[in-house]
Amino acid sequence: MSRPSAPRAEARVDLEAIRSNVAALDAHAGRACVMAVVKADGYGHGMVPTARAAVAGGATWLGVATIDEALALRAAGLTARILAWMVTPGEQWDRAITADVDVSVNSVWGIREVSAAALLADRPARVHLKVDSGLGRAGATQADWPDLVDAALKAEANGYLRLTGVWSHFAYADEPGHPTVAAQVQVFRDAVALAERHGARPEVRHLANSAATFTLPEAHFDLVRAGIAVYGLSPVPQRHEPAELGLRPAMTLAARLMLVKRVPSGYGVSYAHEYLTTAETSLGLVPLGFADGIPRDATNIGPVLVGGRRRTIAGRVCMDQFMLDLGDDPVVAGDEVLVFGPGDSGEPSAEDWARALGTISYEVVSRVGPRVARTYREIIQT
Ligand SMILES: *Cc1c(COP(=O)(O)O)cnc(C)c1O
Repeated sequence: MSRPSAPRAEARVDLEAIRSNVAALDAHAGRACVMAVVKADGYGHGMVPTARAAVAGGATWLGVATIDEALALRAAGLTARILAWMVTPGEQWDRAITADVDVSVNSVWGIREVSAAALLADRPARVHLKVDSGLGRAGATQADWPDLVDAALKAEANGYLRLTGVWSHFAYADEPGHPTVAAQVQVFRDAVALAERHGARPEVRHLANSAATFTLPEAHFDLVRAGIAVYGLSPVPQRHEPAELGLRPAMTLAARLMLVKRVPSGYGVSYAHEYLTTAETSLGLVPLGFADGIPRDATNIGPVLVGGRRRTIAGRVCMDQFMLDLGDDPVVAGDEVLVFGPGDSGEPSAEDWARALGTISYEVVSRVGPRVARTYREIIQT
């Protein structure tokens, strides 16, 4: 599909940054391998281009939430190991098995369903067992763990599955030193030891996300699952800027002014006039709204760069557009507005947006909507 030469709005994704961010993660991971987490359309960056760049940077595994996401990666020709961890009863296990996708199972019903599918497919499923080491989310509780392990080992003995992984996820990895972190490492070690005592021989044991990859070497085990750092955003933003971790933000969200108009003092701007001009000024109209991932909560808060200056969204963010008060700046329709990016030109970062809105950078990038074109800066071939 051809793109207009001057798009209305675009998310520019720097695949070279993604490649080098994964290489930085790989260096930090020591002897552990890197799983690049590309769920949710690669945190908004585009799942397939992100996955390819991550593999070029040294990722040997790709992580996704759904089997559909895993199948889309296979359909695009990615041959790396893939783990899909969100399954529901009646899941399309057969498709995961035939596409060589590892799946996570956290309960005995999952072992039963995946075994039945493996019998029909006439080949074993690859299964990672998930234990709840303290996040209180998707893993099997410590109480349920022995029965889950035994069900999996029985299915393995019958040839229905290969128990390829044992894994868990942190609650507080972004607060290094939080007492739950060490406690979770210990619970995980105990869960792995129990599984091994019962006869499990997993290829990979994995616990660390991006934050733990950088801050907790004892959590690296055989594989680290890195998401946010792949995209160049800091997993520990209170402590480290991305550059301090060898990371570079990969996404720049840009749009072009559609209209610039002079208005008098006291002029009400956008729905319910939540912004009133305080002097004669220029208003600028930007073609991004809450349907594109600019939260309505960014009303009178969201920072941007236009005409070389920081400006703040003026008035309510609408579904498709928002306004800026540009003062007397000599900007015109067609000029570029940078919403966030790596900061090279003085534009805000995704982290700045997260702070302004009381959220995390994960949400800022992953909510950029499908109407915003993704354009790619390709990997530099060396
Ligand atoms: C999303 C996700 C990750 C990646 O976490 P980051 O903090 O982005 O590195 C790792 N593991 C699981 C289970 C996830 O859901």
